[in-house]
Amino acid sequence: MIEVSHLSKSYGERKAISDLNFIIEKGEVVGLLGPNGAGKSTTMKIITGFMAPTSGHAKICGYDVYENPLEVKKRIGYLPETPPLYVDMLVQDYLKFVAELKCVPANQIKASIDRALDKTQLSHVRHRLIKNLSKGFKQRVGIAQALVSNPEVLVLDEPTVGLDPKQVAEIRDLIRELKGEHTVILSTHILSEVQATCSKVIIINEGQIVAEDSIEGIEKWNKGTILLNLKT
Ligand code: ATP
Repeated sequence: MIEVSHLSKSYGERKAISDLNFIIEKGEVVGLLGPNGAGKSTTMKIITGFMAPTSGHAKICGYDVYENPLEVKKRIGYLPETPPLYVDMLVQDYLKFVAELKCVPANQIKASIDRALDKTQLSHVRHRLIKNLSKGFKQRVGIAQALVSNPEVLVLDEPTVGLDPKQVAEIRDLIRELKGEHTVILSTHILSEVQATCSKVIIINEGQIVAEDSIEGIEKWNKGTILLNLKT
């Protein structure tokens, strides 16, 4: 479902990621785990088509992100590190706006919004202005906009960053409930986040993949030096 080959990106002289290769199969929930500056957001931006790589390829559901952007757009939902919320809109109007942008057919928009609200437990605030919601609810709106086109692939960049412990637990529950319905890649610098939500982990450090393992195997990497600066 997600195929990354020889992906590299430099910002001027600065190499952010270097020759990344990985495959994520249908239905997997995979954590891209690494410390600040490791290259997680850069990878997410490239696989969602928001940024061009310097070299290499990314494919979503078999479609090259750059050669077939429309096919990719239909199949992917993206929660960026800072979700682009229009805070002066009502929750449901914002989701309708995103659904239209994502080319959801007009006769499916209402059902799509209802489903995204249901999955993120936001139905009771659908008529509220986004700006009046708590940070945790705003983040759920961010996830709802990623879900509104019922995408096959979900890309969640640091989905719990900046939230309090209760909000973190709620978002992790929500991600666990998405298992089986979507193929998910989520980025985080928190080891326990991957353990709580994912079936596999890809560890990235200084722009390079240093390990790929099952969740059961993750502890052995934590004993090395690469994860010492990660929160648990
Ligand atoms: P964080 O968890 O802090 O967001 P990250 O793992 O997502 O980190 P990236 O944001 O992808 O890492 O950054 C990787 C490297 O590229 C870092 O050294 C960062 O400073 C650099 N970088 C990221 N964006 C830019 C940019 N627009 N211009 C220049 N350098 C950048």
